[in-house]
This record gives sequence, structure tokens and C-alpha cells, in this order.
Amino acid sequence: MAVFNHPAYDGHEQVVFCHDEASGLKAIIAVHNTHLGAAFGGCRMWNYHSDDEALTDVLRLSKGMTYKNALAGLAMGGGKAVIIADPSRTDNREALFRAFGKFVNKLGGSYYSAEDVGTSPADIKIASEETPYVAGLEGKSGDPSPFTALGTFLGIKAAVKHQFKRDNVKGLKVAVQGIGHVGYHLCRHLYQEGAELIITDIHQQALEKVAQEFNAISVVPQEIYDQDVDIYAPCALGATINDATLRLLKAKIVAGCANNQLAEPRHGEQLKQQGILYAPDYVINAGGIINVSFESNYDVKQATAKVEQIYDTLLTIFQKADEQNRPTAEIADEMARNIINHAAG
Ligand code: NAD
Repeated sequence: MAVFNHPAYDGHEQVVFCHDEASGLKAIIAVHNTHLGAAFGGCRMWNYHSDDEALTDVLRLSKGMTYKNALAGLAMGGGKAVIIADPSRTDNREALFRAFGKFVNKLGGSYYSAEDVGTSPADIKIASEETPYVAGLEGKSGDPSPFTALGTFLGIKAAVKHQFKRDNVKGLKVAVQGIGHVGYHLCRHLYQEGAELIITDIHQQALEKVAQEFNAISVVPQEIYDQDVDIYAPCALGATINDATLRLLKAKIVAGCANNQLAEPRHGEQLKQQGILYAPDYVINAGGIINVSFESNYDVKQATAKVEQIYDTLLTIFQKADEQNRPTAEIADEMARNIINHAAG
């Protein structure tokens, strides 16, 4: 397993392999870049098939956090942590997250952790008993998902403005993949503005509830890609924009909250060639981390106002992409790198 020569290494400042024998904790903490401030990024718990898979995930995710925080205008760097374990296990969570908190503490504030896929605010609360370097706790800035959903909704509206020259989503058809924490609230915003929803999820019961609440049509997961819709909103997994799905997509906009939506960078170019406008994932889904950034002196109005800036940031990216005839993802990466390099001096 290569580390310094890993394809996703990308100049990471620090990668820490954590092992605690008593609890069985195996984790990797990656600090990608702290030029803009301490690294912020959640802790994912996943049943990785190999250490290599976990390393690849944490490196890609932490780099994404650096770019996300930079383009969101936050004085925060990028990092991420992964715990290699089955996220459904409940037996020794307290010991695991205490041990994890101790490792975060040893980094002395260069990395702040939070919840992510497979972890919850309750887990982070346990870690917080071992370290002050955690965020997104209940009773402070709270659940980031509604803010991520708001930012994603406004990002969809920016894409609609650019692609269809319209100020609202009324009557537009949107395929939402994943109606979890973020997807649910996104459906609510879209429904309230008059969009027609087609939804899917692997949890049938949740699907039926949301279909009824928002007058949505539900389809089985594999049928979501070739729906006759205006917008495809990936809100579940990464890498759903790939060679296979690009052959199926009829939507003219891809805009959703999932991380790492492009299986490979070349798929951003492919979207452009197919005339599909792509809202870069880490720009449109920054609402949650923006809300967390206000945690030390929380003010919901200020946090919401900053989340709303996602609309203008995306319009700028879309315009530049048109002017330079380049994929939107490339433009976003370049803008983020410029901000980070400027801070590095
Ligand atoms: P979640 O786990 O609450 O929801 C994900 C949903 O997707 C679940 O309901 C799950 O059943 C469903 N799903 C899983 N596999 C599926 C499949 N093959 N087809 C259809 N549905 C499937 O997660 P979330 O917090 O809503 O996050 C959704 C995505 O957004 C993730 O990629 C996450 O990394 C990203 N994201 C979340 C936040 C946040 O604030 N929660 C912030 C930024 C990015």
C-alpha cells in the first residue's frame, strides 16, 4: 500500500494511522491542507474491504474538504477521518469513539472532527469527552443536514437559472436519488416550489412515506438514471456519474448533495459534451459545513445568509465554464486552488 506515492496523496500535510488495542479502533486521520485554518471534516465509519480502500477514501475526502471550505469562503482547511469498522455495530461504540477522541486530541487542534456517513452526533459527543476538537454537536450548531439541503436547493436553482433561464423550479421534473437526512429536506424545498419529484431509495418504507408527503413518484434504485426529467439530484452515494449512467441520463442538470459524484475527472468533461450542466459536488453541498463554521458563536441568520452565497458561487462557476469552454468541475478546482495558494502566500 503506497502512501506518499498514492494517486490521491496530493501533498497531504499529515496522515495518521491510529490503532487502539483495547477498543479495537483502527482509523486513519488525514489532514490535507491547513493554509486557510485548522482542518475540518467529518469522521466516516465504514466496513472497508481493505486498508488501501480506507486510505483512498480518506485521502479523496480530505482533499475535497480543503476545496469545499476554500470555495465556501471559510477560514478552515480540509481533513477527514475514517474508522475501519461495520457502521451498524453497537457493542463497543463508547470505547471506539473515546479512543478516536484521544487520537484527535493528540493532533492538538490541527484537525476538527464531526459526524459523517456511519457516525452520529451521539458518537461525536462521546469523542468530545476526550477532546475539544470536534464540531456539529447537539445543542450547538446541531444537525448540518437541513443546511446542506438548503444549499443544494439553492444550487439547483442556480443551475436552473443558468441552463433554463428560469427563476424557479415550478413544473420541472427532478429525480432525487436517496431520501436520507439531506434528500428528505431537499424534496421538501423542491415540492414547496412546485417541482415534480421522482424519488428512489433502498429503504422502501421511507420511500413510501416521502412519496405520499411530497406527491412524488417512487421508482426502484436502478431506474432512477434514465427517468425523463430535467434534473438528476444524486443524494446517496458517490461515483454515480460514470460510463454506464452517462449513457442513460436524460436530465440536462446534475445537481445533488452526494460527495465525489464523478467516478473519474474525465466524466466532468463527458457531462459537458452531452450538454448536461454539472454543479460541482463540494460547492453545492457546502451548506452543512458552513453552518458548523458558525458553531463557536452560533447565529442561525448569519449561517443561513452564508449558505445562500452558494447560489452566486455556482453562477460564477457556470459563467466561467461557458466563457472558457471548460468543465464546471475543472473551473471549481482552479478557483479553490487559487484561494488556497493565495493564503499560502
Ligand atoms: P443518509 O445516509 O442519511 O442518506 C442517504 C440515503 O441514500 C439513505 O436513505 C440510503 O438508504 C440511500 N441509499 C443508499 N444507497 C442507495 C442506492 N443505491 N440507491 C438509492 N438510495 C440509496 O446520508 P445524508 O446525510 O443524507 O447524505 C447524503 C449524501 O450527501 C452522502 O453522499 C453524504 O456524504 C453527502 N453529504 C451530506 C452532508 C450532510 O450534511 N449530511 C453534507 C455534505 C455531503
